[in-house]
Amino acid sequence: MSITGECFCGAVTYSVSGKLSDPRSCHCSRCRKAFSAQASAYALVSPGSFKWESGEDLLTSYVGEHGFGIQFCSKCGSTLCGIYNGDVHGVTLGCVNGDPELEPVTHICVGSKAAWERIPDSVIQFDERPPEPGKGME
Ligand SMILES: [Zn+2]
Ligand SMILES: [Zn+2]
Repeated sequence: MSITGECFCGAVTYSVSGKLSDPRSCHCSRCRKAFSAQASAYALVSPGSFKWESGEDLLTSYVGEHGFGIQFCSKCGSTLCGIYNGDVHGVTLGCVNGDPELEPVTHICVGSKAAWERIPDSVIQFDERPPEPGKGME
């Protein structure tokens, strides 16, 4: 099975062979801005499993501290993936097509969520980081 994703305008598309792992949603103030939403929604790709199918030349990158960054479509602004030292490290779940059959999403940094957000009690949540060392884009 191959997972596919694309930006809002459809110019940039990608595929991922195999499963996405470690799905997480981070509610900290930095992720809210990076993802233009109440939280990030992100999962990791295994090394070598990610491939741009079209529009790679339209991607613009923003790299922050520690070598982590994001790549987005320069036409429509959708954020498609996270990068670490230039390699695609994970994908934004909002741009994934269909049902990628994820494990339950872990919600992190819930202690610094937006004042207006209400999170259901039933989700897996941590006030800060999960117990294991956080991997990748928090
Ligand atoms: Zn686009
Ligand atoms: Zn965060």
